[in-house]
Amino acid sequence: MLLRLPTSVSEAQECLAEGAVPVGGATLVWAGWLRDGFPALAMSLRHLPEANAVGAETLGAAVVLGRVDDRVPEALCRAAAAVGTGAVRRAATVGGNLVGSSLRCLLPAALVLNARAVVLEPEGVRETDLAEVLAKRPLLLGLRWTAPLASCHHKAQGAAGGAPPLVVAAALHPVGGGRRLLRVAVRDGYEVLTAAVECRTDPPGSLAALRSGEFGRLPSAAWDIVHDRVGELFSRPVG
Ligand SMILES: Cc1cc2nc3c(=O)[nH]c(=O)nc-3n(C[C@H](O)[C@H](O)[C@H](O)COP(=O)(O)OP(=O)(O)OC[C@H]3O[C@@H](n4cnc5c(N)ncnc54)[C@H](O)[C@@H]3O)c2cc1C
Repeated sequence: MLLRLPTSVSEAQECLAEGAVPVGGATLVWAGWLRDGFPALAMSLRHLPEANAVGAETLGAAVVLGRVDDRVPEALCRAAAAVGTGAVRRAATVGGNLVGSSLRCLLPAALVLNARAVVLEPEGVRETDLAEVLAKRPLLLGLRWTAPLASCHHKAQGAAGGAPPLVVAAALHPVGGGRRLLRVAVRDGYEVLTAAVECRTDPPGSLAALRSGEFGRLPSAAWDIVHDRVGELFSRPVG
């Protein structure tokens, strides 16, 4: 297998045109490659500056989960810190988690930030939504979003070999006129539910609006966590 390490977007585009398979930390693909054979050409984005950004409104796809820190909003920082073990987080990347893993613990946090995906295609770079990334698995360069007023994240303890643990993420965004937009995402099993409600400073009203929609079908234990997390988010001082 030849591993290419492009240092510019145009080089990455060439690799794509040559059919290079994207690889992050290889934490998921390695066992399959050993079993089924290695691809002729692979490409890692670890030397591509655009895929290595970490900031208040951006996160590169080649960033390893252990490098995701409080430069990004709390929801995303905590989501990354809650993936697997320290050894996994030292190797696994944002791109591998969102595009390649079935658990995708980063997804609820990215959804509440209303993150856009920056992808590279043979025609060039473009932005798209996360739904398209999950469906079509393009080469992900990174995520972009507008910084929220506040965000939070909760991951339940999981039993080894059991169902994926519950994940709840929420974020408050300014919408003008003293109003705010509350976005909440819940991973229940492998299903991810999302909802957004406009609100002022009223957690009971926002919670009632959430529960009257799709979140009404959450099991009561999951709803209790949504209730507590949203209440805690509203209680934070927001500048
Ligand atoms: C012990 C263990 C525990 C784990 N626990 C969790 C957990 O709690 N929560 C969770 O969410 N996940 C968990 N995982 C999965 C973990 O998040 C993945 O192993 C990891 O995210 C894959 O990242 P990687 O960079 O190693 O991807 P790789 O193994 O390199 O690639 C995986 C797939 O993603 C594709 N890919 C990689 N980068 C890109 C890109 N930039 N654009 C497009 N496609 C790309 C590859 O082509 C491949 O198909 C666990 C894994 C292990 C081994």
